[in-house]
Order: sequence, then C-alpha cells, then structure tokens
Amino acid sequence: MFNKILVPIDLSQSDAGGATLAAAADRVRQGDAKLVLLTVIADVPNMVAAQLPADFSDTATQQAKAQVAELAKSHGLADDAYEVVIRHGTPYHEILSVAKESGADLIAISSHKPDVSDYLLGSVAAKVVRHAHCSVLVVRQ
Ligand code: ADP
Repeated sequence: MFNKILVPIDLSQSDAGGATLAAAADRVRQGDAKLVLLTVIADVPNMVAAQLPADFSDTATQQAKAQVAELAKSHGLADDAYEVVIRHGTPYHEILSVAKESGADLIAISSHKPDVSDYLLGSVAAKVVRHAHCSVLVVRQ
C-alpha cells in the first residue's frame, strides 16, 4: 500500500528507531516499499561551533550515516531496501522537508507518552502529524 516510508531516527534515544524501524521493515517484507532513514543533527550555536574542529560537521554526518546503516542491518534490511539521509537543522522541519522532497507516502515516527510540557510546547511527533502532506504512523513508546 505504501511505496516510500520515511523513518526519522533520533540517534540520541536509547532505543533509536527501534519500534518504527521494525514496523517499517515489516512493510518492506510484505511488499516492495522502500525506506528513507533520516537523522537530523541539531545545529550547533555559532559560539560553540567556533571552538570545534573545521571538519566537525562532516565527521558527525559520516558517523550518523554509519550508525543508521548499522541499525538498518540489525533489522535485516537489504542494502537496496533503504537510503540514509542525514540533515542538519530542526528535527520536525527537516522531517517535513525530506518527506516532501523524497515523495514519501508514509512517515513512521515514534512518540513518548505526553506530559505537561507537551501540552505547552507540542512534541516532534505532534508537529509532524499536524503538518505532514502524507499519512503518518505514530508508534507510542
Ligand atoms: P516527542 O515524543 O516529543 O515527539 P521525541 O524527541 O521523543 O519527541 O522524538 C519523537 C520522534 O521524533 C523520534 O522517535 C524520532 O522518530 C523523531 N525525531 C526526534 N528527533 C529527531 C532527530 N534529531 N532526527 C530524526 N528524527 C528525530
């Protein structure tokens, strides 16, 4: 039913991509869906960036790529079943941009149980659900 599934993965979470990647990998096995595995590296404030090595951004990108590919492997995904995209910026903004650019027809994202701060600020998942151009599968952590 879905041809291209975007799976945003926050590598800082202990079970990064766990449930969503498992759900998406199931759909790959059921048909011929392709996955786009996205990790967004948060922008570093200019004052901090000035103290970091010049190649910090490239190194972080390469490390994130390798970590995501390792996760894909651990879920039994073949190399041609997915592509890895690393972006720098604000997670929900980049998730929405990559969903559009890649032509994803489903975003599989996880969300923690809401607490009081979520009612005031809104979560990444809530923003994605509200603004996505395509269907969104929210896996509760
Ligand atoms: P919330 O539960 O408040 O929506 P989380 O920070 O727990 O926010 O993130 C929920 C999901 O949003 C993550 O599991 C992941 O799918 C996606 N996400 C959050 N941060 C990133 C990131 N930096 N890169 C890619 N995906 C992210």
